[in-house]
Amino acid sequence: TTRVMEALALSRRPLRLPVVLEKSRYDVVIGADLISRAGALLAPLLPRRSVIVITDETVRPLYLSKLLASLEETGIEARSITVAPGEQTKCWTTYEDVVDTILEGGVERRTAIIALGGGVVGDLAGFVAATTLRGLPFIQIPTTLLSQVDSSVGGKTGINSRWGKNLIGAFHQPLCVLADVSSLTTLPRRELVAGYAEIVKAGLIGQESLFAWCEKHGAAVLARDPEALAEAVRQACAFKAGVVAADEREEQKTDGRALLNLGHTFGHALEAELGYDGRLLHGEAVSIGLTLAFSLSVKLGLCPQEDLIRVTRHLESLKMPAHVSDLPYRFRIADLMAHMQRDKKMQDGKLSFVLAHGIGKAFTTRDVPEEAVREVLLADGV
Ligand code: NAD
Ligand code: MG
Repeated sequence: TTRVMEALALSRRPLRLPVVLEKSRYDVVIGADLISRAGALLAPLLPRRSVIVITDETVRPLYLSKLLASLEETGIEARSITVAPGEQTKCWTTYEDVVDTILEGGVERRTAIIALGGGVVGDLAGFVAATTLRGLPFIQIPTTLLSQVDSSVGGKTGINSRWGKNLIGAFHQPLCVLADVSSLTTLPRRELVAGYAEIVKAGLIGQESLFAWCEKHGAAVLARDPEALAEAVRQACAFKAGVVAADEREEQKTDGRALLNLGHTFGHALEAELGYDGRLLHGEAVSIGLTLAFSLSVKLGLCPQEDLIRVTRHLESLKMPAHVSDLPYRFRIADLMAHMQRDKKMQDGKLSFVLAHGIGKAFTTRDVPEEAVREVLLADGV
């Protein structure tokens, strides 16, 4: 009953996390049952009582009618556009279809775009908002844990090119983000775990207290306890908002936003090897990448072994992917190294990594010996 009462309190009074940037500021509103109160929450922010909701076929039957009903209650006129779920949706063809549909239906510069869905919908809808009529107001209603803690903060929007992921895009900050933790009840567990890995990552980068909180409450987060979810989302968003505020457009040469890539160099190599076909989710790859980044840091004598043990123990205790050997796929060391070397070319010929001096003490470096990387991968089961 305490649980139920806490959940009720949370649904009555959502948490508000301000994101303060050079030229704009907005709130990430975090709580339970926000979609059914979206009209009241958004009405004061909208330049005009007219919105276009972009969602995907999976999210549509779950949450669209709830959102539309709430918008209607407050006199906000809304129409919706539905795209196919999945990463392939972040492409020129879908982008063109969506923009054409918007223009065909009539739109003016004060009509807002609302993204209702995961990071795919958020990135696509955000790019549509950034570019249609040179910029429409934008609102995010992220419905995956990953999009609540990661992609909805920072203002990056975009689509993929045949040459790589997220190569076409724009910075476009939202007016507001509504992170409704109740929407996570329908999220498949694998997707939940993948989002949670980015929360753990935030703690490991720069906030030991967040990682310690995860050690205590991670099980409750994965059990979808609404209080634990809201607190995890708040802490991870606060962390990312701080990093983004200090380096809004990724212009800093060292650290800054680059730290957010802890675990990602290894993770991307694993994902790329499997051809981004859904067998390995991004967050699952990051989870393994975190262990590898700490192993590499230990191998180079930069990080105490105890911190690596703490990281792996936490991931293992929640049955998260922690080692390459946890995956039912075989990788060839040469292929993984080749992927990482391709990154290396982009970085002036040096192998660049985010490493850690310990939990909460990540830093970027540009001179990691290839041999150490190879040994760490081999020791992890490649
Ligand atoms: P996603 O949007 O593909 O969602 C994952 C799956 O869950 C989809 O099938 C979706 O339909 C479904 N889904 C969404 N909400 C649901 C719910 N409440 N219940 C049941 N099913 C639901 O994936 P994602 O992990 O949310 O986002 C990944 C994308 O985010 C990638 O394209 C990545 O590049 C991008 N991203 C962007 C940023 C940024 O800063 N802009 C940061 C990180 C990731
Ligand atoms: Mg990531």
